[in-house]
Amino acid sequence: MLCFILVIAGIIWYREVKKEKRNLYYENMLCLSRIVTMTVAIERYNIKNIDTKNIIEYLEEDIIKELIEEKYLSSDFIKLYRNWGCVYKSHGDISTSLGEIYCKKHGNKKELIKKVNDLVKYKK
Ligand SMILES: [Zn+2]
Repeated sequence: MLCFILVIAGIIWYREVKKEKRNLYYENMLCLSRIVTMTVAIERYNIKNIDTKNIIEYLEEDIIKELIEEKYLSSDFIKLYRNWGCVYKSHGDISTSLGEIYCKKHGNKKELIKKVNDLVKYKK
């Protein structure tokens, strides 16, 4: 009987862990896709404004609002922006290849790609 209870408890525990890992996979995946979306939007903005010197070098929250107003990002983006405690910052000059956007909670693009690859087996 005890053995049976232990097996059931084990199955429940395994399912919970799997569910948690799956949620973590989607959380990291969405954070990664937001970083990629913002990076592309900022690159497009910088290319367009290269002559006017109105170039984005650092990411602040106001920048996101400006990118939405100028249609470089969709208006839905702001709704998703703060999900899962994501806070986006930049280090280095993001108008050059030396800078990058990162999430204070989940890390930079490289770290997120590694996490997503490690968690992809829990996707289903
Ligand atoms: Zn994040």
